[in-house]
Amino acid sequence: MKLTLLLLNSLKGLPARMDHYSRFSPSPLSIKQFLEFGMKSANEKKSFEFLRQELPIRICNMMKEMNLLPEKLLKMPSVKLVNSWYLQTLQDLLEFEDSVNDSPTRERFTESLTTIRNRHANVVETIAQGVLEMREGKWNVDPHEECNIQYFLDRFLMSRISIRMLINQHTLVFGSETNGHSSRHIGSIDPNCDVVSVTQDAYDSARYLCDQYYLASPELEIFTKNGSDPTSGIHMVYVPSHLYHILFEIFKNSMRAVMEHHGVAAEEFPKIKVMVTKGKEDVTIKVSDEGGGIPRSVTDEMFNYMYTTAPSPPKPGTTTIPPLAGYGFGLPIGRLYAKYFQGDLQVSSMDGYGTDAVIYLKKLSSEANELLPVFNSSASRHYKTPAITHDWSRAGNHVRPYHSIYRSMSRCYKTTSIPVTLAN
Ligand code: ATP
Ligand code: MG
Repeated sequence: MKLTLLLLNSLKGLPARMDHYSRFSPSPLSIKQFLEFGMKSANEKKSFEFLRQELPIRICNMMKEMNLLPEKLLKMPSVKLVNSWYLQTLQDLLEFEDSVNDSPTRERFTESLTTIRNRHANVVETIAQGVLEMREGKWNVDPHEECNIQYFLDRFLMSRISIRMLINQHTLVFGSETNGHSSRHIGSIDPNCDVVSVTQDAYDSARYLCDQYYLASPELEIFTKNGSDPTSGIHMVYVPSHLYHILFEIFKNSMRAVMEHHGVAAEEFPKIKVMVTKGKEDVTIKVSDEGGGIPRSVTDEMFNYMYTTAPSPPKPGTTTIPPLAGYGFGLPIGRLYAKYFQGDLQVSSMDGYGTDAVIYLKKLSSEANELLPVFNSSASRHYKTPAITHDWSRAGNHVRPYHSIYRSMSRCYKTTSIPVTLAN
C-alpha cells in the first residue's frame, strides 16, 4: 500500500515534465559528430549533460505521439505495457534532472542507462503484439486507423533506434562495457567499416537459418566498384551492426524467395548477387535474387508492418531456431535503419523473375545526420486527417496509399544538424 502511494506521488509531476520536454525538438547528430566526440574530446561530463536533456526530449516527443493512437489500440495490454516502460524510463531519467554532475552521479547514470536499454529490449515484439491483440479482438480497424498505426510505428521505432544509439555510445565510450569489436571502434561506430565483410557476415547468418529450414541455400557472389579509388576496397564510417541488420533481413527474404520459387528439390539454385559501389555521395549495395519476384500490386505493401506471406512463426520458446520469415517487420525496420543516417532502402521487382533490394548509405559521415521524428502540430494533424480518396490521376485508389503517407511524413522529421553541446 505504502509502495503504491509512493509510486503515485512520484508519478504526479510526470505529465507536467512530459509536456515540458515534448515542447523541445530533438537535436540530431551526424555520425561525424558521434565519432569526433568519442575520439577527440570524449568528455563524460558533457555527454551526461547532453543526454539527461536529450533522452527525456526524445522520449517525451514519442510518448505524446503515442497518445494520438486509436483509443482501442491504447487499451491493449501490450501497448499499456510498453507505455509503462516509457513512463518508468522517464521517471528514472528525471532523477538526474537537477543532480550534481560528479563522478558517482555519472556512474549511477551509466548504470541506469544499461537498465533502461534492457527494459526496452522487447519493445518491437511487444508493440507488434499489441497491434495483433487489437486486430484479433472484436475491434474493426478502418483504413485511416491502419494508416495511422503504420505511420506511428515508423516514427516510434525510428525514435527507438535513435535512443538506443545515444545510450550505446555513452555506455560503450564511458562505461565498462565493450562491444566485442576491435579497438578502432568508437562505441558502436567503425571508422573503417568494411562493407564487403559485413555483407559476407550477414549472408553467412542468413544462410545458416536457410540451411536449417530448407537443408540447402543459394550461393553468394559479390562484385565491387569503387568509383573514387579503384585500387582500394569499400570502406566507410558507419555502424556495422545497423548495416548487418539491414543486409541480414534482405538476405533472409531473398533466400526464402529463391528456395520457395525453385523448390527444395531443385538441383541448383541461382546465386544471390551483390554489387557494392562507392561514388561521390553514396555507398550503394544492391542485392539481386532470382526468387520469382513480387507482383507490382503488392510492392507498396511490402513495407507495411506485419505484411507477410510467410506462415506464422512458432511461438517464442517452442523452438531454438529463429524463424527465417513471418513477422512482416524485416523490410520496414530495415528501411528505418537505412533512413536513420539519411540513407534509404528501395525494392524493385520483376514479377516472375526476381527482386533487387538497394541500400543507399551516405558516404560522408558529416552528411549522415540522424533522421528524427518530431512531435509538433504537423505530426499531430496527420493523425486527424482522414484518408483521402483519389482519382486515377493521383497515386492510389480508395484510400491514401501508405507510400504517399510515407512521403508526407518526411515533413514531420527533423534532419538538419544543429550545433549541440555534445559535439563542441
Ligand atoms: P520477417 O519479419 O521475419 O522478415 P517477412 O520476411 O514476411 O517476415 P518482410 O521481410 O518485411 O517480412 O517482407 C514482407 C514480404 O515481402 C514477405 O513476406 C514476402 O512476401 C515479400 N518479399 C520480401 N522480399 C522478397 C523477395 N526478395 N522476393 C519475393 N518476395 C519478397
Ligand atoms: Mg523478412
